[in-house]
Amino acid sequence: MIRINELSLPLDHSADELRQAILKRLGIGAADLLNFTIFKRSYDARKKNSVILFIYIIDLEVRDEAAILARFADDQHIRPAPDTTYYPVGQAPAGLSERPLVVGFGPCGLFAALLLAQMGFKPIVLERGKDVRRRTKDTWALWRKKTLTPESNVQFGEGGAGLFSDGKLYSQIKDPKFYGRKVMHEFVRAGAPEEIMYVSKPHIGTFRLTGVVAAMREEIIALGGEVRFESKVSDLVIDDGQLEGVVLASGETIRSRHVVLALGHSSRDTFRMLHRQNVFIEAKPFAIGFRIEHPQSLIDQARLGKYAGHPELGAADYKLVHHAKNGRAVYSFCMCPGGTVVAATSEPERVVTNGMSQYSRNERNANAGIVVGINPEQDFPGGPLAGVEFQERLESRAYELGGRDYCAPAQLVGDFIRGKPSSEFGEVEPSYKPGVRLGDLAPSLPEYAIEAIREALPAFGKQIRGFDRDDAVLTGIETRTSSPVRITRDNESLQSLNLKGLYPAGEGAGYAGGILSAGVDGIKVAEAVAKSLLAGQGS
Ligand code: FAD
Repeated sequence: MIRINELSLPLDHSADELRQAILKRLGIGAADLLNFTIFKRSYDARKKNSVILFIYIIDLEVRDEAAILARFADDQHIRPAPDTTYYPVGQAPAGLSERPLVVGFGPCGLFAALLLAQMGFKPIVLERGKDVRRRTKDTWALWRKKTLTPESNVQFGEGGAGLFSDGKLYSQIKDPKFYGRKVMHEFVRAGAPEEIMYVSKPHIGTFRLTGVVAAMREEIIALGGEVRFESKVSDLVIDDGQLEGVVLASGETIRSRHVVLALGHSSRDTFRMLHRQNVFIEAKPFAIGFRIEHPQSLIDQARLGKYAGHPELGAADYKLVHHAKNGRAVYSFCMCPGGTVVAATSEPERVVTNGMSQYSRNERNANAGIVVGINPEQDFPGGPLAGVEFQERLESRAYELGGRDYCAPAQLVGDFIRGKPSSEFGEVEPSYKPGVRLGDLAPSLPEYAIEAIREALPAFGKQIRGFDRDDAVLTGIETRTSSPVRITRDNESLQSLNLKGLYPAGEGAGYAGGILSAGVDGIKVAEAVAKSLLAGQGS
């Protein structure tokens, strides 16, 4: 297999033009090209008024590979393609009596369970929330009728926190073993659009993701696994530093010496239980801030210039960073083009926001978190769970400021910068459901965060004209940007540093941030569990 890097074509090119470009680049005839696949397609819009081209990485098979590689030996853009195939670490022997447990069925637990099932280990998944269909109903009840179901919502249930999301599937993690390709491949097999395998910033969108997750659950079951909903793990069975099983909230005990703990960042009661059980946990940095909304057309125009609205490019995104004078970094987080701001609490009488979109990304507004990085040493000293408590205090205050009915506090950008409460909207209508309450956001976050965001917004307006326009809307608050804790694990065995048999994984344990990296961590942990089971050491 040969790889061609950096093959450029106009945005509107046909499939045949791509084939012709490959033949021309290699100087071969049509009969010599046996087949090709697009490994990656990106575009560079940094100089928005110059011509935007698609830039391809192509993997291909040719009749005489050695001769072509020899001919292009000095050309760094034509090289042997790396092998990106996924090879399982082993296969369970027939009759293996121990079944691994996977706690949590977000992207991390989903991939851990799928991989274990594919290797024949017949995992049992324990998920506190409900299946996608019933969970969707519960989640919409908060958005439409202000009714929260604490065990079934945006954070908890089949598919995890990323189910009602933009479904962005990119990450900056190092991935030398191409586990990210395995994640994408499984998503495609389960019904995601084929293009996620090659576009540079793939996304699935909420509606499609729900079908994909349900299809993957069916595969786990078909391979002998079990998926149990409404099964919250509320305690651990420990014997002399070795995990022997888990206890469910129902009182049932399930025994296993291999437990993947893929909790997500919102399972605060479970973090407390782990701490009570003396499992090593430490506080870690995260970020707090607001969601900002602008018309999507403003972002398209600023990012794509004359190409704004081009069907091949879709809705434009952005990524912004500002280093404030008070030493804080302010940055955009989880940007959702053409999407909506959503109520994302899992706890009564608390307000927290996030963003989601459909595959089409055709809602009127663009939204993103504008958040300030915070850390335990400076901002929430006081032990492993101090970050959790800090989040809780802020989310309760946001609930008060929103009017105590799950509406979110909001303010227009111009008023926020000038320190004046807002009383009416301009052209930008906020999308947050069940609704926002205009006022002053200053009391919702610590002073240093307000000061840093006030300074950052005009600076962002210099990068994206109109970003700091007076009537852009800020909705509060964003607190669950990543886990406030790390459940520490050994780099080799991936087991807890002080509890053998416990495999902390994914975002909640502090080893992932986002759907793709959580899925990749699920694969790594599944491999560690499989190796341990195959070694027959029971630890
Ligand atoms: P989670 O997805 O949080 O899953 C953890 C699961 O564990 C949950 O289902 C929970 O119910 C279950 N659980 C917790 N405790 C217990 C227990 N004691 N017993 C049994 N089960 C338990 N990321 C992106 O990459 N792209 C996006 O576009 C994107 N958009 C997002 C939009 C929203 C609204 C939200 C909330 C998040 C978004 N994210 C996005 C972040 C992404 O969802 C997370 O990074 C990812 O889901 C983390 O995966 P995880 O499996 O580690 O944890």
